[in-house]
Amino acid sequence: MPAAYDVDLLSDTLTRPTEAMRHAMATAEVGDDVFGEDPTVRTLEERVAGLLGHEDALFTPTGSMANQLGIRLHVAQGEELVADSLAHVLRAEMGAAAVLSGISSRSWVAQRGLLDAAQPLALMIPDGGTYQVNTRLVVVENTHNFGGGTVQPLDQIEALRAGTQPRGVAMHLDGARLWNAHVATGVGLAEYGQHFDSVSVCLSKGLGAPVGSVLVGSSDHMAQARVWRKRFGGGMRQVGILAAAGLHALDHHVERLADDHARAHRFAKAAGEAVPGSIDPATVQTNIVVLDVSVTGWSSTGFMEAAGSRGIRLYPVSPTAVRLVWHLDVDDAGTDRAVEALVPLLEKGPSAA
Ligand SMILES: *Cc1c(COP(=O)(O)O)cnc(C)c1O
Repeated sequence: MPAAYDVDLLSDTLTRPTEAMRHAMATAEVGDDVFGEDPTVRTLEERVAGLLGHEDALFTPTGSMANQLGIRLHVAQGEELVADSLAHVLRAEMGAAAVLSGISSRSWVAQRGLLDAAQPLALMIPDGGTYQVNTRLVVVENTHNFGGGTVQPLDQIEALRAGTQPRGVAMHLDGARLWNAHVATGVGLAEYGQHFDSVSVCLSKGLGAPVGSVLVGSSDHMAQARVWRKRFGGGMRQVGILAAAGLHALDHHVERLADDHARAHRFAKAAGEAVPGSIDPATVQTNIVVLDVSVTGWSSTGFMEAAGSRGIRLYPVSPTAVRLVWHLDVDDAGTDRAVEALVPLLEKGPSAA
């Protein structure tokens, strides 16, 4: 198959299953998971629940479904969730909480998506009574995708928990890339997990599985989520072939995320030194780089097209910034190519196109 791009930094969802992963999938034991009879799915669910320090877990086809199931466990129709204005649940799930569950939302603005507990605590209204919408849930994203792979500080998560719990407001963690936060900081997955009532994690981002996410929470909540998963059309049958890919990823693709982080940082350092103001490399903690290309006069779409004509794909995350994501299928040579092609382009500005 001809590669459309030499270096594809569009997303860490692009990874293709390795030979070893395909073998694990092909040889997986399976059963009908809607009847709870797929042993490989059960193994994955138990393993992820254990890793995150929760009672039980539920395998879902997508991270969006895991988030939306988590959200509806805590929020009823006509109630609200709050999340930062760049949150995936608000920006990239097609209004699902409103459309599927009748839930409204409000947001605060967070620099780089970084959590400051005071902001949601000031925003939430858990006792709205008969006049104001009741806040039932705060959603935290770790790492923060559109914020640039930002790792959320544990002390802010703890402060948020201390402020929400006494007021009966639940916390859901969109942990699509919690693996990256764990590898970047050394903070245990369960140490993050313990502060939340539910957590979603993705197997199909940096971990390199073709499909799959997992929601964790209490046994009661997972039993409810199982019903809603079926109602949302997410009850799957011999899906152990996909769970096997997830188990393989947990065995082989977690620690290596550090390589993605190092490569992203190397690119950010080169760009930031050549064009100060485009990126502060100190803020690049994981596998995502959000580069302000407007510093040298580029629009994000103009820069995307110029990069594309040089064989490199990236994503315009706002009118002024592009996002580059490192993953399993981008190596050191690919990173060198990205530096060599994109840094001069950024330096010279749109006249270089
Ligand atoms: C990718 C992602 C999800 C889930 O996306 P799906 O495409 O539905 O699997 C959720 N949250 C964040 C932060 C993500 O980056």
